[in-house]
Amino acid sequence: MRFASVIPDIPTRALRDTFDYLVPEEMEAACVVGATVLVSFSHRNVVGYVLATSDEPPAGVPAEKVQPVAQVLAPSAFDEHAAVVIRWMAHEYACPLCEAVRPWLAPGQRVKVTRTDEASPWELVREQAGPMDARWVELLDPGFEPVRNASRQRAVVQALLAGPQRLAELSATIPGAGTAVRALQKRGVVEVTSRRLVRGGEGTTLSSAAAPRPESLTRGQTEALAVIDAARRRADGSVVLVDGVTGSGKTEVYLDAIEHALAEGRGALVLVPEISLTAQTVGRFRSRFGEDVAVLHSRLSTGERYDQWDLVRQGRVHVVVGARSALFAPLADPGLIIIDEEHEGSYKQDQAPRYHARDVAARLAAERGCALVLGSATPSLEALERCREGSWRGRTWTRMSMPERPGGAVLPKVTVVDMAQQFRDGGRSVFSPPLRQALEGVVERGEKAVLLLNRRGFANFLMCRECGAVPECPHCSTALTYHERTHSLMCHSCGRSWPVRAYPDPSTACPVCGSRYMAAYGVGTQRVEDELRMLLPAGVEVIRMDADTTRQKGAHQRLLEQFDAAECAVLVGTQMIAKGLDFPEVTLVGVINADTMLKLPDFRAAERTYDLLEQVAGRAGRGEKVGQVIVQTYWAAHPAIQAVVAHDRQVFLEPELAERREAGYPPFSRLGNVTVTGRSATAVREVADELAAGLRVVVGERAGWEVLGPADCVKARVKDRTRRHVMVKCPVGADLGGLLGDCAARVKARPGVSLAVDVDAHDMM
Ligand code: ADP
Ligand code: ZN
Ligand code: ZN
Repeated sequence: MRFASVIPDIPTRALRDTFDYLVPEEMEAACVVGATVLVSFSHRNVVGYVLATSDEPPAGVPAEKVQPVAQVLAPSAFDEHAAVVIRWMAHEYACPLCEAVRPWLAPGQRVKVTRTDEASPWELVREQAGPMDARWVELLDPGFEPVRNASRQRAVVQALLAGPQRLAELSATIPGAGTAVRALQKRGVVEVTSRRLVRGGEGTTLSSAAAPRPESLTRGQTEALAVIDAARRRADGSVVLVDGVTGSGKTEVYLDAIEHALAEGRGALVLVPEISLTAQTVGRFRSRFGEDVAVLHSRLSTGERYDQWDLVRQGRVHVVVGARSALFAPLADPGLIIIDEEHEGSYKQDQAPRYHARDVAARLAAERGCALVLGSATPSLEALERCREGSWRGRTWTRMSMPERPGGAVLPKVTVVDMAQQFRDGGRSVFSPPLRQALEGVVERGEKAVLLLNRRGFANFLMCRECGAVPECPHCSTALTYHERTHSLMCHSCGRSWPVRAYPDPSTACPVCGSRYMAAYGVGTQRVEDELRMLLPAGVEVIRMDADTTRQKGAHQRLLEQFDAAECAVLVGTQMIAKGLDFPEVTLVGVINADTMLKLPDFRAAERTYDLLEQVAGRAGRGEKVGQVIVQTYWAAHPAIQAVVAHDRQVFLEPELAERREAGYPPFSRLGNVTVTGRSATAVREVADELAAGLRVVVGERAGWEVLGPADCVKARVKDRTRRHVMVKCPVGADLGGLLGDCAARVKARPGVSLAVDVDAHDMM
C-alpha cells in the first residue's frame, strides 16, 4: 500500500505539518511528490499538495483508518529536492507550509475546484490559458533604418539583431511590437514564421543568425569562467560572485558558463530583475541557445507563461530566463543558477513567503548539487561579507573581480555640488549654478540629459538648510521622522518621540550649527519639471517619468521611446529611470537630490544611495562622447557620495561596514521584522505588545539577541489600517525564522488583526 504526505492549502500558522492519506491503487502513478490532490480534511474537500510518499503506513494509525486521496487534480510540479527546499522555506521564512509550496506551482493554478455536476470529477479552476503562440520573428534586413519617429520599429529591429525571437516575447518586452512587426513585414524587413518546437531531440534550428561572439575573453572573464566551471563540477552548492562593473562582460561569462553546463547535459536557471528583462536581454539568450530557452516574464499572458513552464517540466528546454520566480521553474537538473544584479531589492519578495531569491537559490544549489553564480557591479554587503569570510552556511563563496570593460572605457567625471553651501550663498533654486550651466551646454550642443529626482524618501524629516543636519534618535542612530499633525519627531525603531517645540517657527534651532532654517525636506517631480521648462528654451523636450506619468500600461516604454526619438531632450524622473536605460546620446546625468534615501530610517539607506548613484553614473557617456555627472547633495562628505566621485567602492565600504558592525546590523547580524496591522488601533497595540512580550521571554538573555519595539511603522496608517512593528536582531548563524514562527503562532488570534513575519527584512517601513 502507498501513502502520501499532503499539506492542505489552508494558509494558517496552526497547520504546521503534512497529513497522511492512502493512495488508491489506480492513482499510484499520478499521486507522486509535487502533485496537487483533493483530500478530505475536517469533513470538507480541500486542495492539497503531495510533499512525500511512502510504502509504510503512518506511525500509530491502523492502515484501514487512513483516509484515501479523493482525486489527483494536477500532475507533479516539483520533485523531492524541491520538497526539501519547500520545508526549509516554511521554517526559514516562518510561513505556513502551503504558502511555501505555491511559488512552485504551474502559472495560473488556483486553489479552487469546480465540477459540471454531482457525478463528474472535480477540476482545478485555472486562469485562462490560451494556446501557445508559435510565431517567431526573424530579421531579414539588418541594415534597415526606420524613420526617426518609428521608435517601436527601431526597438524591434534592434532586439532582432541578436537573433530571432518569439512574437509573444517581443510584445511582452516592447509594447505595441505586434503593429511594428506587421509594418516591418510588409516592407520585407522581417519574416514571421510559425514553428513548432522540434520534438525528439533533433536539435535547434534557430541560432544561425546569432549575435557575434567576442573573439576572445578578457583575462577577468577567463578567470571567472574557470572558477564557475570548477564550482559546477564540484556540484556542492558553491557560490561565485562575479563582481564586475557595468559593461565588463558579465553576461558574456554567463552565456559561456551555461554553454558548458549544457554540454555536460545539465541546464541553467537565470534570474534577472524584472526591469532588465528586456528584448535585448532575451535576444542575447535566444541568439546563443535558440529554442532551448524558456522565458518567464510577468508581462506574458498566464497561458503563455504556463506553456513556457510546461516546456521546462517536460524537459524540452534547458535554459530558463526570468524574474525572481524563475527560481521555482521545474528544471530537472540545473548545473547552474545565475542571479544577475544580485544586489537588487526586488529579489526580496514582499508578500508571504517573504523569501530572498539569493538565499533560496543558495539552498536550492546545495540541495541540487549545482553552482550559484551572483553578478553585480555593486554587490550587496551580504554577498561581499560572505566572500570575505570564504563560506556561508557550509558552502564556499568566492569573489571574482572584473574591473575593466573589454574595450577600455572612459569613466564619466563626477562633480558634487554642496547644496548647503549653495543655500548659504543665497541659492534657492532646485538647480545649482553648475547644473544649470551643464544643462545649458547640453542644449547648445543638441545633446540629451537625464535628471534623477530621488523620491524614495517619502518619509518626512526635518533638515537644516544650512548644514544638512537631521535630528537623529540618540538610542538608535536613525533619522527621526517629522509628523506634522502632532508636531513631533519620532523614532521608528524604538518608538520614542519628542515634541518639536516651535516648528514651523523659524526659531527652531539646528542641533548642530544653530541655524534657524530647519525645514521639512523634499520636492516633487512636477516642480522640477516646471522649473526646468522655465529654464530651457522652448524647443527642448522635457519628459517627466514618475509614478503619475507611468500609471498607464506601456507608458514607461512610450516615454523612453519619446526620449530616444527626440533631437534634444531632458528626461526627469524618479529612480525608475536609473536602470536599463542605455542611450548613447546622454552626456549629462544630474542628480537633483542624492540625499533623501541617505537619511531614511533604514540601515541600508547608504548602501541603496551608493548603488543608485553608481548606476546612474554608469548611464552617462556610454557612446563616443565623454559623459558628465553632477550630484547635488546636502551631505557632500558622505562616504556613499565620495565613493562615486572617486570611482572607488572602498571609500564607501570601509566606514559603512564599521558602522554596521558597531550597531549590530546585517551582514553582521540578522534582522527580523513583524508587522501587525488592523483597523482597530487598540487591537493592533494589544497584539504587538503581546508579541513583543512573548519574544522577550523566549529571547531572554541569549547573547547577541535583541527585541526592539513595538513602535509605530513609518507608514503608520495604510488604507485605514494601523500598523505597528516589532524587530528582532540575532547573530548571523541563529535560527531566526524558527523563533519568529513559534512566537507568532503563539499570539492569540484577534479578528481583523494580521501578523506579517519578515525574516531578513529589507523594508522596515
Ligand atoms: P555586463 O553584463 O557586465 O554589463 P556584457 O556582457 O553585456 O556586460 O558586455 C558589454 C558589452 O561588451 C557587450 O556589447 C558585449 O558583447 C561586449 N563584450 C563582452 N565581452 C567581450 C569581450 N571579451 N570582447 C569584446 N567585447 C565583449
Ligand atoms: Zn545646521
Ligand atoms: Zn530610537
